[in-house]
Amino acid sequence: MFASISGPRRPSPPRAARHARRLAVLATAAVTLAATGLAVAATPSSAAACNGYVGLTFDDGPTGSTNALLSVLRANNVRATMFNVGQNVQGNPSAARAQVDAGMWVANHSWNHAHMTSMNQSQMQSDLSQTNSAIQSATGVRPQLFRPPYGETNSTLQSVASSLGLRQVIWDVDSQDWNGASVSQIVSNASRLQDGQVILMHDGIQNTRDAIPQIMANLNSRGLCPGMISPSTGRAVAPDGTPPPTTAPPTGSPTTPPPGGGCTATATFPNVWGDRYNTSVTVQGASNWTVVVAVTAPQRVSTTWNGTASWDSTGYVMTMRSNGSGNTFGFTTMMNGNSSARPQIRSCTTG
Ligand SMILES: [Zn+2]
Repeated sequence: MFASISGPRRPSPPRAARHARRLAVLATAAVTLAATGLAVAATPSSAAACNGYVGLTFDDGPTGSTNALLSVLRANNVRATMFNVGQNVQGNPSAARAQVDAGMWVANHSWNHAHMTSMNQSQMQSDLSQTNSAIQSATGVRPQLFRPPYGETNSTLQSVASSLGLRQVIWDVDSQDWNGASVSQIVSNASRLQDGQVILMHDGIQNTRDAIPQIMANLNSRGLCPGMISPSTGRAVAPDGTPPPTTAPPTGSPTTPPPGGGCTATATFPNVWGDRYNTSVTVQGASNWTVVVAVTAPQRVSTTWNGTASWDSTGYVMTMRSNGSGNTFGFTTMMNGNSSARPQIRSCTTG
């Protein structure tokens, strides 16, 4: 098992520090293994206690209890992302300002929490831009993230958001706080969070505030730290925006666009576990694109997201087409005994 925690090394710190960190990493990895049964590819990290990051999000504020929420978050050293409703910001700009002053990231959660998929494109556009303006004028910060109310979205809404510089972020884990979950249920739901993932919670709910100290204790015990949500990937990363230490590979594999291809695809490997890893591919230069990716046998792709995948007869060459989910797609590859190979991008073409 421990073989899996000695991954690629980063530049070596001094020997004593390296030793101390390795012990810390081993201790944390042991806890994680015991807790989840999952092999974690941990590498010595300069951010001592953090093996990874998760995004804590609070929707529907600001509310009359935003200040109470901020007090709890600050007392627990938490930085979180606040998906604010535009009209609430307009009605209570000082609470929105207080979010930013407390170190929180502010993001767009629509103007008045409507079901946006029943809007037409220009209604969507005006809803999101009005919300951006309210947030920017209250806080001085221009939102880069958008969460559709109820998580309801479609390709029109995503392209409108993207045209306004907003990355759509849904969630990986639902705390169920909106559904009357108890403090212990909220804590238990949050304990499912894994590196890079995002949890849905809400401003204005007492049980949510009461759950925060226990949520943090659980995350700390697993070496996970609260992070920011990357506007380029929608995943949780370190608060300064650098990728988490478990994302080891220093190499993205930028590929040269073939002549006439019309777009560029760049791969990064944001999560590496003992038996599998995730690849995130970002396409630049086209919104309708086709990217061909080859994996090395015996590795196999097990899951894909944010694109429509098809395969050649060997099963090792995947053609991914845009499906309206934006310009970053991803997939999980099972290593099947080959832990070093990484997928090769063969081409990126428009349309
Ligand atoms: Zn909401």
